[in-house]
Amino acid sequence: MTDPTIKTCIVKNCTNKSNEGLFLGDLCAPCYEFITQGISKHSQAYRNCLYLLEERIKVIATTISLQNKWTSNDVIRMLNEVFK
Ligand SMILES: [Zn+2]
Repeated sequence: MTDPTIKTCIVKNCTNKSNEGLFLGDLCAPCYEFITQGISKHSQAYRNCLYLLEERIKVIATTISLQNKWTSNDVIRMLNEVFK
């Protein structure tokens, strides 16, 4: 049976539960730290941002490769260097 007092972090795809560690409101501590202070690279909030950035990089890479006749993998490699 599920304990109704146990919350799951409200960040998309985060599975941290309030009985497993520190919670601040509806957020687990790692997601809260990332959202409020830009730290905690172990949070799902950070991974969600990374995913969006990677999707954006793919679009930029495709655009640049089409304009310059480079492969998009070449461009992704270059952009990953920049975003390291
Ligand atoms: Zn979380």
